Amino acid sequence: TYLSLSGSNGRKWYRPIKLQHLLDLKARFPDARFVVGNTEVGIEVRLKGIHYPVLISVAHVPELNYIRVEDDGLEIGAGVKLSQLVDVLKKVRNNRPEYETSSCRALIEQIKWFAGTQIRNVASVGGNICTASPISDLNPLWMATGAKFQIIDCKGNVRTCLAKDFFQGYRKVDLTSSEILLSVSLPWNKPFEFVKEFKQSHRRDDDIAIVNAGMRVCLEEKDKKWVVSDALIVYGGVAPLSFAASKTSDFLIGKSWNKELLQDSLKILEKEIVLKEDAPGGMVEFRKSLTFSFFFKFFLWVCHQMD
Ligand code: FAD
Repeated sequence: TYLSLSGSNGRKWYRPIKLQHLLDLKARFPDARFVVGNTEVGIEVRLKGIHYPVLISVAHVPELNYIRVEDDGLEIGAGVKLSQLVDVLKKVRNNRPEYETSSCRALIEQIKWFAGTQIRNVASVGGNICTASPISDLNPLWMATGAKFQIIDCKGNVRTCLAKDFFQGYRKVDLTSSEILLSVSLPWNKPFEFVKEFKQSHRRDDDIAIVNAGMRVCLEEKDKKWVVSDALIVYGGVAPLSFAASKTSDFLIGKSWNKELLQDSLKILEKEIVLKEDAPGGMVEFRKSLTFSFFFKFFLWVCHQMD
């Protein structure tokens, strides 16, 4: 029913072509690594010398490899490659009302600066999410956009987890050893809801982030003022995991979108994002200033959208 190869080093390689086969294999080998683009696993095996006795290629499982346009948003299979995702996001951007696709446009822009073409052609959405790197370029955006993850266990039970609750610690996610990531649901945006991506790296092309971010704010008109009805500000590269600045985000809610909000939220942000002198990654002052400048840029960008 599925291809299985054994290497001389005792390593086993499986290539299921149906979800049920994949679930059976996951039940048999709870600690097996999945492989799509191999851009994370390959580095662990070749450069870090980690031995994975069982590898399961999930690139040919149709239930993980689809993108569907639904009434309430996009449904993206975990095995979808980043280049495929961008193609669909661009079509959606061109065909739907502009306000609905703010998240799609932020993802398109962020993926533009994600690695290089070769990596984007093979790297998967699920591989990036489940690796849970603290400098993943996409996880802050999935969180900020309000995306939800569908998770399936070996028995076929499906549960949903908000992206913002999925990341629990350094490369630690809300998945048990009997579960896999099935898909991502990306909601359409509401009118006056704005999503923006940020990334600063040493080089513009093909480089990992020093700090990145995903930010979303939803405004509504009250007494002739534009008031924040919902917001989420998320940073990468400032903590062991993609970090939701919830105090700052909560502070924004109910406030008018004006200069005072900007000044007050920068003060809260300064307290909320704590980078110790010896924080891994160094460049502490620079990284701190990036968190402020991204928020400042976001503030101005939203003002510009409202003009
Ligand atoms: P794989 O290596 O195939 O798998 C990664 C992990 O995900 C494995 O542990 C596997 O078990 C798990 N997994 C995969 N699918 C599932 C699933 N459905 N359910 C549960 N677990 C699953 N990342 C960035 O964010 N920004 C960058 O700019 C960037 N640049 C890079 C440049 C280079 C040169 C390289 C090598 C990597 C770069 N990366 C970057 C990291 C990497 O490309 C991404 O994390 C990529 O999306 C991983 O996808 P993959 O399919 O290659 O994962």
